[in-house]
Amino acid sequence: MASSITIPRRLPLLLVKDSVLLPGSSMRIPVKSMKNMNMVKSRLLSRSTLSSTIIGVVPTQRLDEEGEDLSALHSIGTAAVVVQVTGTNWPKPAYTLLVTGLCRFKLQELLQETPFPVATVTQLDKLPEDIGDTIKGDNESAELDALAENFREQAAKLVDMLDISIPVVAKLKKMLESLPSQHLPDICAAIVKASYSEKIQVLDAVDLTERFKKALPLLMRQIEGLRLLQKAKKDRFEIVTRKEGDTRPSKMRRTFRSINTELDDEDDGEGDDSVDLEQKIKAANMPDHAYKAAMKELKRLKKMPQQMPEHALIRNYLELMVELPWSKNSKDALDVLQARKDLDTDHYGLDKLKKRVIEYLAVRQLKNSLKGPILCFVGPPGVGKTSVGKSIAQTLGREFHRIALGGICDQSDIRGHRRTYIGSMPGRIIQGLRLVGVNNPVFLLDEVDKLGKSLHGDPAAALLEVLDPEQNNTFTDHYLNVPFDLSQVLFIATANNMATIPPALLDRMEIIQIPGYTQEEKVTIALRHLLPKQITENGLTQEQIQIPEDTLKVIVAKYTREAGVRTLERRIGGVCRAVAVRVAEHASKAKHEKMDVGADKKQVTNTNLPASLSQDVSTLAHPPEMPIVIDETALEDILGPPAYESEVSQRLGQPGVAVGLAWTPMGGEIMFVEASQMDGEGKVTLTGQLGDVMKESAELAMNWVRSHAKRLGIEKEKKLLEKKDIHIHFPAGAVGKDGPSAGVTIATVLVSLFSKKCVRSDVAMTGEITLRGLVLPVGGIKEKVLAAHRAGIRRIIMPYRNEKDLLEIPNNIRQELTVVLAHTLDDVIQDAFNGEFTLMKEQPATSKL
Ligand code: ADP
Repeated sequence: MASSITIPRRLPLLLVKDSVLLPGSSMRIPVKSMKNMNMVKSRLLSRSTLSSTIIGVVPTQRLDEEGEDLSALHSIGTAAVVVQVTGTNWPKPAYTLLVTGLCRFKLQELLQETPFPVATVTQLDKLPEDIGDTIKGDNESAELDALAENFREQAAKLVDMLDISIPVVAKLKKMLESLPSQHLPDICAAIVKASYSEKIQVLDAVDLTERFKKALPLLMRQIEGLRLLQKAKKDRFEIVTRKEGDTRPSKMRRTFRSINTELDDEDDGEGDDSVDLEQKIKAANMPDHAYKAAMKELKRLKKMPQQMPEHALIRNYLELMVELPWSKNSKDALDVLQARKDLDTDHYGLDKLKKRVIEYLAVRQLKNSLKGPILCFVGPPGVGKTSVGKSIAQTLGREFHRIALGGICDQSDIRGHRRTYIGSMPGRIIQGLRLVGVNNPVFLLDEVDKLGKSLHGDPAAALLEVLDPEQNNTFTDHYLNVPFDLSQVLFIATANNMATIPPALLDRMEIIQIPGYTQEEKVTIALRHLLPKQITENGLTQEQIQIPEDTLKVIVAKYTREAGVRTLERRIGGVCRAVAVRVAEHASKAKHEKMDVGADKKQVTNTNLPASLSQDVSTLAHPPEMPIVIDETALEDILGPPAYESEVSQRLGQPGVAVGLAWTPMGGEIMFVEASQMDGEGKVTLTGQLGDVMKESAELAMNWVRSHAKRLGIEKEKKLLEKKDIHIHFPAGAVGKDGPSAGVTIATVLVSLFSKKCVRSDVAMTGEITLRGLVLPVGGIKEKVLAAHRAGIRRIIMPYRNEKDLLEIPNNIRQELTVVLAHTLDDVIQDAFNGEFTLMKEQPATSKL
């Protein structure tokens, strides 16, 4: 009997990528490609009624943006009726079709390709309305009956496993009971989880027996899967109820419901995703408020078509939620004795810092809380601030994460962007937590002194909230929008310059200063830490390279001038790399030719690396068992000529130059101050980017020299001053300088200029001056003294009242230095010019005071 209702011979085609519509089932299909859009517009939207609109849904594995590629069309498709068209215009037009499959067809001929494909088709199945007698041979029909019977039983089993109180399940149950057996394979295959190729196989099974055979395994697999899931849920449910009694019925319901939600999800064509997410949300062990928020978002996600831009936003949000360490932590393994040992093995020196860190940890251990001030390490770059932070994390057995704050000027960098616009992100704190995966890491807030400010709010204020133990257990990131407990995070801050730390933050922190290392300390650090580290990092062994202590001293003195050890480490790394090249070359050479080991050995005893890096490797090839020893010549060969030679005596060899000492965030520095005079109108010019305070001390110095010209014996110059321009310059010209401590140096330079006497060649000085010639104390003495020592200066003039600061200078350095403590400028001048000025005992300026 021919079917009474047939589908049209010509059908407009809708190309669907990677999914299959089976007859009898419904599906939402997103429409994005050009061709599909055209089809919807001209065939579906232009009509007043959609009820009779039949289209051909054809699976394809390839579908580009344009929907141009028709070569990968599957030869069998499903005629479908379009039940609903929904659309959005943002960010670009897109539609979603709700379609119900009617029957299979075979593609005969493509009639047109643009603006959308239309083809002639041959109907393969009968329409549901025409179910009736299927004429089959006796044998075949017996087999088919048995198959159908079995299939119906299994399908009933599947439905029985679902919660009948859910409307979709009830509907399905009814439908399966009333549906003729022929339609069971298609409908069941559409409901169960199956891959694209499995569904294609069902679609291709035009023969009914074949179709039963293809669909049955899929059905069985789903039943088995559900059974396992139910068992797992039951086990978990039992644990939950045992733990909590019957006080949380909502949670129980949740547990049961989730078994059944799979069916709902399948309808959306995104079942895997949201079920997966749901499971992850449950497993994330969130606090109640977060759990509720996540479930709410999940509900929204399920309702939302995948092509909506918000879909991705919500997904990203939920993924963050499930990855955050709500209740995951590393076990705190604090043992104060061990901590001290660990800090000592990782770092040489730094006694004050280590002592304070241990105290801090001990108090935290006794109080069992992290409330209290935040430690802030302040010091020049490369003194080990970061690496001490890492050691602390290690000794506590916690994760370590560094958050660089330099240059941040938007508070949402800390607190996140609100989730209202595309591209919004959580702040650095939440990102950091996601990355480390535990809620009690050590966070190093690097460079808190370089926080900026802008129109977008003050990041320091946001940071304050993060650090405040009263508030940070409910820290709310704008993106996350639910509070996260930060109270278990151990925060440590670092800065180069205390003066630029925002005051409110400074108030919450305990400052520990690291002034920088002496030459000797650097050599020891290099020997014990940097060298072994660099050797391994460059793939070498102690047997291959040796850098003796004397060579390290040369590197420290002539190739670096810094407060920390970062450049030093880089230089040592440079040497190691050069040697690594040699060793590698040697190894590959050995492969290629046999070497005369005996001849080479002679070379090793008297020469080392020099020239070795130049062209002729073979003449200097060492036998592999001999280490390459780096001496000073080898050093020059690798690193080039010394970068820093002592220039002090050279530059001080003329009048009008003196060495001052300055404090900078990078550590102490020596500074040559130069003055010159030329014919003019008595103007004083200052260059070198000086701040106001420094300009004022220059004026003070000038006036003091003028008023004491007679006593100093430069009287005759005083008149000349009126016709002379004076120029005082502070190198490095591009770096801004300020502060009062250059006063004594400027006065000395001027005296030297007018008297044409040279300042003694081994002295550097620091000190603020008053109009009356008193020398006042200044800050940063330790850094300044270390810098002078680094530069090879062995005599220092400094304010008398800074004497107590000398206690901080290591003894070995103190012993090498002569420190002159000055009360007045007279004392300074006396010493700087080696007693060449015979100044009158009582000073008119001070005695009349
Ligand atoms: P900072 O954070 O102060 O700029 P880092 O912590 O990055 O400096 O230190 C630079 C390098 O110097 C690191 O490799 C560190 O291990 C090493 N270092 C610094 N001080 C010491 C020290 N006292 N003992 C051993 N190594 C040190």
